[in-house]
Amino acid sequence: MAFELPKLKYDYDALEPHIDARTMEIHHSKHHNGYTTKLNAAIEGTDLDEKSIEDILINLDMSNSAVRNNGGGFYNHSLFWEAMNPEDRGYLSGELKDAVEAEFGSKDAFIEAFSKAATTQFGSGWAWLCVHKGGKVEVCSTPNQDNPLMPGVSCGGAPILGLDVWEHAYYLNYQNRRPDYIAAFFKVINWNEIERRYAEAK
Ligand code: MN
Repeated sequence: MAFELPKLKYDYDALEPHIDARTMEIHHSKHHNGYTTKLNAAIEGTDLDEKSIEDILINLDMSNSAVRNNGGGFYNHSLFWEAMNPEDRGYLSGELKDAVEAEFGSKDAFIEAFSKAATTQFGSGWAWLCVHKGGKVEVCSTPNQDNPLMPGVSCGGAPILGLDVWEHAYYLNYQNRRPDYIAAFFKVINWNEIERRYAEAK
């Protein structure tokens, strides 16, 4: 059963001026599509063929670089698109707000910690907000297309918010100014979806 590139729930230009339309188009139709195609090629005819992407990543043989890179790329971007929304975004509230404040002290301190993880991830990778069983949250980062579901990754729990800090995610609009892109991401986060994921994973 082949994986399919998920359709976006909004237009490529819907997140402007924070994320520009050209970046969105290339990122989704070229990069994410590429990971999807290569993942399908890597699992075709193997025993991974019938599994969910979560199953594949949780039980991943990390030496299988084709599935590690492209399975991670497929999953991470699918989560990334849903973490943003042009409208009806809600705001950090409810149980997730309580968990964030318990861990970081305040929303601002959480934003600072997440932004630092995203800024200091050397080269390509992702920053994450994860939730552990019981509801405790954690901020961390991973290189390349690794993610917290993979075994042995120094990042725990289920990812509920991820930020792509590969240059392909921001270079057209922000060039070398990764911190500006990170700040812009916080203007388009779909908190309703992050809270839904928190409630499901905790
Ligand atoms: Mn990307």
